[in-house]
Amino acid sequence: MAAKCDGNDKPSSGPRASKPATRVLPSPGLHIVATPIGNLADITLRALQVLEDAHVIACEDRRVTVKLLRAHGIATPTLSYHEHNADRVRPAIIERLKKGETVALVSDAGTPLISDPGYKLVRAAQEAGMPVHVAPGPSAALAALVVSGLPTNRFLFAGFLPARAAARRAELTELAKIPATLILFEPARRLPSTLAAMADVLGARQAAVVRELTKLHEEVRRGALTELADHYAAADAPKGEVVILVAGAADGPAEFDEAALDEQLCAALAQTSLKQAVATVSAATGLPRRQIYARALALTGKRAGTQEEV
Ligand code: SAM
Repeated sequence: MAAKCDGNDKPSSGPRASKPATRVLPSPGLHIVATPIGNLADITLRALQVLEDAHVIACEDRRVTVKLLRAHGIATPTLSYHEHNADRVRPAIIERLKKGETVALVSDAGTPLISDPGYKLVRAAQEAGMPVHVAPGPSAALAALVVSGLPTNRFLFAGFLPARAAARRAELTELAKIPATLILFEPARRLPSTLAAMADVLGARQAAVVRELTKLHEEVRRGALTELADHYAAADAPKGEVVILVAGAADGPAEFDEAALDEQLCAALAQTSLKQAVATVSAATGLPRRQIYARALALTGKRAGTQEEV
C-alpha cells in the first residue's frame, strides 16, 4: 500500500501517454538522484529525466523538493521520506517497487545517503531483490575537497562530529592518526568552537573552511587550523553551510613537534655526519629532508652551501 502522504500518484503500469515514443524511460526500481547544493542549475540532464519520469519522488522536505521541481517544470508527485518517518514509510516504498514502479529518492541537497536519509531504503530494496540505480551529481563533500587546495589523492569523509565536547575530542583523536585529507560537515553556528577543538587536537595543520558553495556568498578560507580557529573566534558567527577540511596526518605540520625533532637531530648529529643525521631523522619522522636539513643547520650554526649535499 502506498504511504498516506502520497499525492496524485501516477499509474504504476503501462507506458505513460505524455511521453514521446522515442524517449527511453528510466528502468523500474529505486533511483538515487543527486540534486543541487545551492545553485538550481547544478542538476544533470539524466537526473531531470528520472525525476520527470518516476512514478513518485521520495524526498526529505517536500517544500524544498517542490521548489526544485517547479524550477524545472516537473510535476511528478512526491512523498515524504525523512529520518522521523522512514521506518513507517519504507515498507510502502518497497511495495511500490515490487509493483514495478520507478521511485526516485532525493534529499534536500546534494547526494542522498551522504549524511542524509536513504541507506536503509537502499538496503531494503536490495534485500527485496529490487534494482537500485544512481543518477550521480553534486555532493558538498567532494565539491569542497576540490576547491580546498588540500591533497585529493586520499581523503576521509567523516560526516558531522558529535556535538558534545568529550565525544568530539575522542573522535578527533581517532581522526588525528589518519593519513588522508579529512572532510567534515559542520553547522555554521558551531564552527568557532569546533575549529578551536580541532586546533587543540590536530595542531597547526593546513586546513580550509568552505562555506556556501555554489551560492552567492561562496567563500573558501585556507590556512593553518590555529589561524582559522583564531579568525572565526574573532569574527561574527558565520552563516550558511560549511565544510571543514584538514590535511591528513602525514600532510601537515601537526606531526612536526619542534622540540622532539631537535632532540632527535641532536642525538643523530652527535653520532654521525650531518648528511647521515638528516637522512636518519627524515626516515624516522617522514618529514622532508630539506626541512630537516634547514633545522640541522640552525642547530649547528652552520650556513647552507657550506655542508655536504643532502
Ligand atoms: N547529502 C548532502 C551532500 O551530498 O552534499 C549533504 C547533506 S548534510 C545534511 C548537509 C551538510 O552539507 C551541511 O551541514 C554542510 O556541512 C554541507 N553542505 C551542503 N551544502 C553546502 C554548500 N552549498 N556549501 C557548503 N557546505 C554545504
